[in-house]
Amino acid sequence: MEEEKDKRATAAQVTAAAPVGYIDSVYCGSGVDGNGLRCVVFFAGCNLRCPFCHNPETLFKQGTMTDINSLVSRLERYKGYFRRGGVTLSGGEPFLQKSFALALVSALHAKGIRCCFETNGHIADAELIGAAEYLIVDVKNQESDDLAPYEKFFAECVRQDKEVRVTNVLVPGKNDGEEKLRALAALVKKYFPGEPSEHIKFLPFRKLCEEKYAELSIPFPYAGIRECERDDIEKANKILQNL
Ligand code: SF4
Repeated sequence: MEEEKDKRATAAQVTAAAPVGYIDSVYCGSGVDGNGLRCVVFFAGCNLRCPFCHNPETLFKQGTMTDINSLVSRLERYKGYFRRGGVTLSGGEPFLQKSFALALVSALHAKGIRCCFETNGHIADAELIGAAEYLIVDVKNQESDDLAPYEKFFAECVRQDKEVRVTNVLVPGKNDGEEKLRALAALVKKYFPGEPSEHIKFLPFRKLCEEKYAELSIPFPYAGIRECERDDIEKANKILQNL
C-alpha cells in the first residue's frame, strides 16, 4: 500500500516537473538570427562536426541543465524589445532536444513571443518543423556533395507550407566554385518558387572562433583557409543570379 502511494507520488512529481534541456547560453540583442531584434537560445550538442563551426563550445560541452520555466521567464523579460523579433532556437542543433524545444516554443507562444529555428536541416522531424513560424536552414556543402538530408527536410517544410530561409557559409576554395553553387541552386529551386538567389543568403567564413578552439584545446580544422571577403560573396551572388 505504502509502495503504491510512493509510486503514485513519484509519477505525479514527474508529470508536474517542468521539462528540462541542455543549453550552452542565451544571447539577447541579435539582429542577424531572424526577423527584428532577437534572443538566441544556443542549445548544447550537435549531430554534425563542421570544420568551420563557429560555436565549438556547443559541441564539446554538456551545457547547462535548464528548466523551461526559468528559461521562459528570463526570455520574457525582453518581450518589450522584440517588436518584429522574437526568440531563435539555435545551437548546436536544437532539433536534437525535441521535447524541450517543442515545450519551449509552445510556452513562448503562450506568452505571445514568436519563435524560429536555426537548424542544420539533417533531422526532418515533422512536429518540430511545424512548431515555429519559420526555419533558417544552413546548408553544409563545404566538405560533402551529399544534399539528400536537405531534400527530406525541405520536402517536409513544403508539405507544411513553412517558410524556409537558406543560409550557406561561404568558404573560399571549398564551396564557392560554380559546381557547388549550381548544385545548391538546383536544390533550392526544386522546393521553393522564384529564383534561388531570393532564398539563399551567403554567410562569410570567419575565423573569430579560433580563440574558442584554443580555449577548448582542440585544433581549428579550417585554420589554414583564408576568410571570406565581400568580393567572394558578391561573386557567388552573381554566379547564382546568372545560372
Ligand atoms: S551544424 Fe552548426 S553547430 Fe553543428 S557543427 Fe555544424 S556549424 Fe557547428
